[in-house]
Amino acid sequence: MTPLIDTHHRRIKYLRISVTDRCNFRCRYCMPEGGIEWLPHESIMKYEEYLRILKICIPRGVEKVRITGGEPLVRKGLADFIESVKEIDGLKELSLTTNGVLLPQQAPDLKKAGLDRVNISLDTLDRDKFSYITRVNAFAQVRESITAALKYEFSPVKINVVAIRGFNDDEIPAFAAMTLDSPVEVRFIELMPMGCASRYGDHEVISSEEIKDIVEGRHGTMVPVEYTQGPASVFKIQGSQGKIGLIGAMSEFSFCSTCNRIRITANGHLRPCLFSNDHIDLLTPMRQGISDTGLEELIEEGVRKKQRSHGMCLSHHATQPQGCDALMNTIGG
Ligand code: SAM
Repeated sequence: MTPLIDTHHRRIKYLRISVTDRCNFRCRYCMPEGGIEWLPHESIMKYEEYLRILKICIPRGVEKVRITGGEPLVRKGLADFIESVKEIDGLKELSLTTNGVLLPQQAPDLKKAGLDRVNISLDTLDRDKFSYITRVNAFAQVRESITAALKYEFSPVKINVVAIRGFNDDEIPAFAAMTLDSPVEVRFIELMPMGCASRYGDHEVISSEEIKDIVEGRHGTMVPVEYTQGPASVFKIQGSQGKIGLIGAMSEFSFCSTCNRIRITANGHLRPCLFSNDHIDLLTPMRQGISDTGLEELIEEGVRKKQRSHGMCLSHHATQPQGCDALMNTIGG
């Protein structure tokens, strides 16, 4: 079958699906303290509806699927859904992004269902700072989730760290040190000016280049290890068991030029770019009885909408030329 290719010649190989907008955390850069007006239940995609889309996209070249949210582990029936996704021919990898709090109890079922990998979000190694940034006291559970993920061999276990100056810049060497004797991949993500993070200034964003300098200042040269086609540039500290990924969403030109991702939101919108409000509603036509051919054409149309670049860089942060007003929990990070 013809692969899904956008108008800038990028092959779409990676689909991120947000299975819920609900979250049990209220991270300060992501969601308001009082939460948001949740999507009504009837506007949230059913698992069969995601499967219908996946059965079109995977034969057209999507190799990797990531389940995200909101917090995906708050949605019931996730392990059964994972089992059904894994049955689709052609899928090479199924992963999950989670805040980890429910992972220790769900890890055995997720493993049995066939989940390949997990990314656990953890922005600080300090209990009090953790409660501050997430507005939840769950530091111990999240640390335990890393142990559980290693135990159940979700390989590799990745730890997502959003770097924020004045909050966790002093912890960058300690996060990097986690890779010395553990096979984890610590991924430093540049803070993106979306939703609640729009109120952070340029000076609070720490570029991947600066993070690399900080890590190298403490641990020596970081050696590039691989080109993954993912959003991260991946490195290793000499002799370490694990790896360090740098996600230069705001500072790196290559972030967009190699972008092979599209997203499906919890309410069934195909979003070709995380930073753009452009989207195609797939859910309404599906519920109105659109044929598979019609649905496939809508997906192709969404892929054609993918812009060459999100158009933002650190120095343009304040102006956000093609900014996106949606919250990350709705789109799925
Ligand atoms: N609840 C899950 C979790 O915590 O990993 C999945 C959803 S969360 C939106 C996915 C990732 O997006 C997390 O690692 C989070 O830190 C990151 N994120 C949220 N807002 C962000 C922002 N403005 N800039 C960079 N990363 C962000």
